[in-house]
Amino acid sequence: MNKIDAVSDMVVQSKRIVVFTGAGISTESGIADFRSPGGIWARFDPNELTYQKFLSSETNREKYWEFSKLLWPTIAQAKPNPGHYAIAELYHLGKLDCVITQNIDGLHQKSRVPEERVIELHGTMKWVNCLECGRRYPREQIQSRLESGEKVPRCDSCGGIMKPATISFGQPMPEMETREAEKRSAACDLFLVVGSSLVVYPAAQMPLTAKDNGAKLVIINLTPTPHDRYADIVIHEKTGEALSQIVEQVKVRLI
Ligand SMILES: [Zn+2]
Repeated sequence: MNKIDAVSDMVVQSKRIVVFTGAGISTESGIADFRSPGGIWARFDPNELTYQKFLSSETNREKYWEFSKLLWPTIAQAKPNPGHYAIAELYHLGKLDCVITQNIDGLHQKSRVPEERVIELHGTMKWVNCLECGRRYPREQIQSRLESGEKVPRCDSCGGIMKPATISFGQPMPEMETREAEKRSAACDLFLVVGSSLVVYPAAQMPLTAKDNGAKLVIINLTPTPHDRYADIVIHEKTGEALSQIVEQVKVRLI
């Protein structure tokens, strides 16, 4: 049996699938991550964009916002790819417990996975938060202000420092989301890693939690990951193609 058929069988036999996604699924929608060569990341040093730097000075915040202003149009215009739609299909087939994602682009929601089924471990670019009073602004609103020349936007209510609702390098993981993701990982019967190199902790712990609690583990990623040896099946392919083929097979078997 080939790997696609074997994973399809596992999906058919599962009732609570957790799909864990990373940058690899979004690169197929044209969103480069900081490990990708070229693009916006060639012009900015990730070490200059840490949470600590952001908090430390107005000059650093200006640099961060310059980066964020350039990144937003790509995120706003990005469309889900076949990989996202295949995952949404798992939801419609009643197989998906939730998607846990390291991505900040909202593409799972755009592919019509309901908001409450998506756990965003690294936050989202859709909102901007005031770090003082907690007021939340739609990103489009702040983007217009940046485009009209504001360098470092401040909160209208309290004048506080504002930051995109993403988890930056060096910023603590969101407690509620992390706890929920760990709980779902422990309770699923199939844990499907899609496009994550599984190097960032504590996120990288979740497939192992699933496995320890009796779930099957499948990893679909273009390059090897440190957890490949724990997986029941590993597929080193583009995520869009592999997932589409798997879901097509699943539909054939379910009908
Ligand atoms: Zn405020």
